[in-house]
Amino acid sequence: VPLLGGDVEVRFDRAAVAVDDATIGLLRDVCERVDVDDRSRLAAGRDWWPLTVGWALAGEVPARAGAVARPATTAEVAGVLAVCSDRRVPVTPSGGRSGVCGGAIPVFGGVALDLCGIDGIVAVDNDSLLVDVRAGTFGDRLESDLRAGHGLTLGHWPQSIALSTVGGWLACRSAGQYSSRYGKIEDMVVGLEVVLADGRVIHTGGTAPRAACGPDLTQVFVGSEGALGVITEARLRAWPAPAYQRGVAYGFATFADGLDACRRTMRRGATPAVLRLYDPTESSRNFDQPGCVLLAVDEGDPGLVDAGLRVLHQESRPAVRLADGLVERWLAERNDTSALEWAVRHGLVVDTIEVAARWSALGAIYGGAVGALEDLEGTVSASAHQSHAYPDGACLYFTFAGQTAAAEDYYRRAWDAVVAVTLAQGGALSHHHGVGLNRGRHLAGALGPAFGVLTAVKAALDPAGILNPGKLGLPSPFGDAPWP
Ligand SMILES: Cc1cc2nc3c(=O)[nH]c(=O)nc-3n(C[C@H](O)[C@H](O)[C@H](O)COP(=O)(O)OP(=O)(O)OC[C@H]3O[C@@H](n4cnc5c(N)ncnc54)[C@H](O)[C@@H]3O)c2cc1C
Repeated sequence: VPLLGGDVEVRFDRAAVAVDDATIGLLRDVCERVDVDDRSRLAAGRDWWPLTVGWALAGEVPARAGAVARPATTAEVAGVLAVCSDRRVPVTPSGGRSGVCGGAIPVFGGVALDLCGIDGIVAVDNDSLLVDVRAGTFGDRLESDLRAGHGLTLGHWPQSIALSTVGGWLACRSAGQYSSRYGKIEDMVVGLEVVLADGRVIHTGGTAPRAACGPDLTQVFVGSEGALGVITEARLRAWPAPAYQRGVAYGFATFADGLDACRRTMRRGATPAVLRLYDPTESSRNFDQPGCVLLAVDEGDPGLVDAGLRVLHQESRPAVRLADGLVERWLAERNDTSALEWAVRHGLVVDTIEVAARWSALGAIYGGAVGALEDLEGTVSASAHQSHAYPDGACLYFTFAGQTAAAEDYYRRAWDAVVAVTLAQGGALSHHHGVGLNRGRHLAGALGPAFGVLTAVKAALDPAGILNPGKLGLPSPFGDAPWP
């Protein structure tokens, strides 16, 4: 979205913390690249949060950083954090800025910490299938370097693979499209290098495949969305790059029938890498098919792949087998976002909401959430697909579009409706996009008394509250979050 050419309004300017010349000088002593030009500061003021993509079309950016620090080493990150901690300046870490919840928006100004310069594979232990990689490495580069140099794959294929970084994945608990075989990023990580708010560098885990050395400190930082520490390097599990891949498609009469086939397949221990079930609206929109389309793709050892797909075939009866061309179409078009861009440009309020729940709750969440969205005045379309499946449950990925003059009010009510249905059924607020700014108001309710543990951890690790203030619904010394 073009933005930086003309006059730009800054939505969250009111509470912005300026970075004075003395602080800029100190930052430049510890970090070679610190930019203060307006273009850099504005570009660092936004991410892919769909609501703000609409704002951008109207010449509005969510925030403006006071300065943009672009470290190239862990030592530079440590230096920046030590200065900012000392001078009480907010620091908002960012990777590819592909986050869709406003997590990388520096809502209180201060320093935007762009981690993209800390990139590349550090080491590969092919015997142990482990890769050490710097946090700013983009997904497509990591995957191609792993394959070309080592014959390995990470198996992590978020739709945003070319837009997002390893650090962003870990900070948001990202999921790739192949997660039923390879797991989410939290299943792939075995250890981290993290810079704490005061500049101390720590290492967590990473020494052995399993350990019993107290609580898992790696997982304290996975999903912490830049609010507990800055991830600079990770040790991740990899797999031999697969030479064999197969896909199949089935057509179900109802969404409930399709969900049940997925449940029974996973229950028997089959792990097709991709298992996606589309409701009637999305089956028609994406594949020109009546009923509900189920797509499965698996890869790896041919014996395991064929056995898993045989289980799926048995559990899909009496659904009809559809043309393999549907799978090829999905594989070719799966990272295409042009429909979303078209809708935003045509004035629709559009977003996606991914939640997760037990199999026993998924049907009620699907029906309740789509129904609640359809009941909202202004809704043009509400639909969902089951996007990631596990033995105990799955992710439901809703898409809504509305047309109304009260865009932000409609947007807020759409989110509140889906969240209310999900939490009432005991589901998780998010499966893989995280909380950021947009879902911050819901996290305390979703976690219940355990939210107090999170606030205590935040206070212990970041007593000055400088790390990504305004996110995760956490209290901030700089004021209340500016959204909603
Ligand atoms: C078209 C599109 C498709 C998408 N598809 C998927 C998908 O399939 N699966 C999925 O999981 N997500 C998807 N996303 C969401 C997004 O790509 C993920 O949330 C991703 O993990 C964000 O990575 P990033 O590097 O862009 O992080 P950013 O957006 O830059 O930051 C996200 C959050 O992480 C924090 N952060 C970033 N780097 C670090 C670090 N090194 N240390 C500490 N905190 C850090 C930031 O402060 C912020 O809170 C999609 C987004 C888009 C736009």
